This record gives sequence, structure tokens and C-alpha cells, in this order.
Amino acid sequence: MSTIFSQIIEGEIPARIVYEDETTVAFLDANPLAPGHTLVVPRDEYERLNDVPDDVATDLYATIHRMVPAVEDAVDADATTVAFNNGEAAGQEVPHVHCHIVPRFEGDGGGPIHAVAGERPDLADDELDDIAADIESRA
Ligand code: AMP
Repeated sequence: MSTIFSQIIEGEIPARIVYEDETTVAFLDANPLAPGHTLVVPRDEYERLNDVPDDVATDLYATIHRMVPAVEDAVDADATTVAFNNGEAAGQEVPHVHCHIVPRFEGDGGGPIHAVAGERPDLADDELDDIAADIESRA
């Protein structure tokens, strides 16, 4: 079963495609959080960010980099929130990597990316040191 985004890319279901190249496609979100809310996806299906091969990741970032100013200018946005829901626990509903470009406006009532997490942890310095060391060893 292909994802709904693959069906869009294959032209099987309609979408407002705003950019496409060999490896990536951008289209308007069907349930926009703001006018101009755009999704950028790789043509091929990868569920999570770390599944995307290096060369495709490079192209994906290039398309995001291209689309952010295009979206901001088109809707006269003051800023954009640019984010991935990376995995179901983070709210990812479509298992096909996609970057949300959400236009933001002064006083739009939305929050920063810090608003997405639950209760903040209270971490001691040694816990932070352990976490940093663990991440560093895996990077
Ligand atoms: P996520 O929760 O990060 O997986 O986001 C999935 C996004 O895909 C949501 O913002 C939906 O509104 C959007 N979406 C779902 N179906 C379609 C569709 N057919 N065309 C465009 N956007 C869609």
C-alpha cells in the first residue's frame, strides 16, 4: 500500500503541487494550519528522517531551503515554523517523511516549537553530562 503522498506524487489523487524535481515534491497541506502551509516530501517513501539516504536528504533540504522564502513571500508571512513530526509518538500520521512549512504571522496566537513537548524534565548536571556523552558517542 503506497502512502497518500505517493498517490499524490503519482497523480492518483489531486493536490496543489507547488514545486517538483527529480527527487522531491512540495504541495499545499490539505488541512492548513495557516494559508500557504506546505509539505515537502521525497518522491520515494521513507518513513522517518533517518531512513532517508544521504543524497536524498541533501535534495530534501535544498527544496526546503528553496520553498521557505517562496511560501513566506507568497502569503506575506512574518516567519515560518519548519518542522518534521518524526515518528508516531511525535504526531506523525503519514508514514512518508514530510517537512511542514507553516507560515507564521505576528500575533497569530500560535506557539514556538517549544510548545510541542509535554512537561519539561528537571535534569541534574550529571544526567545532562551522561546524555550528552551518550549522544556524542553515537553521532
Ligand atoms: P503529520 O501529522 O506530520 O503526519 O502530517 C500529515 C499532514 O498531511 C497533515 O497536516 C494533513 O493535513 C496532511 N494531509 C493529509 N492528507 C493530505 C492530502 N491528501 N493532501 C495534502 N495534505 C494532506
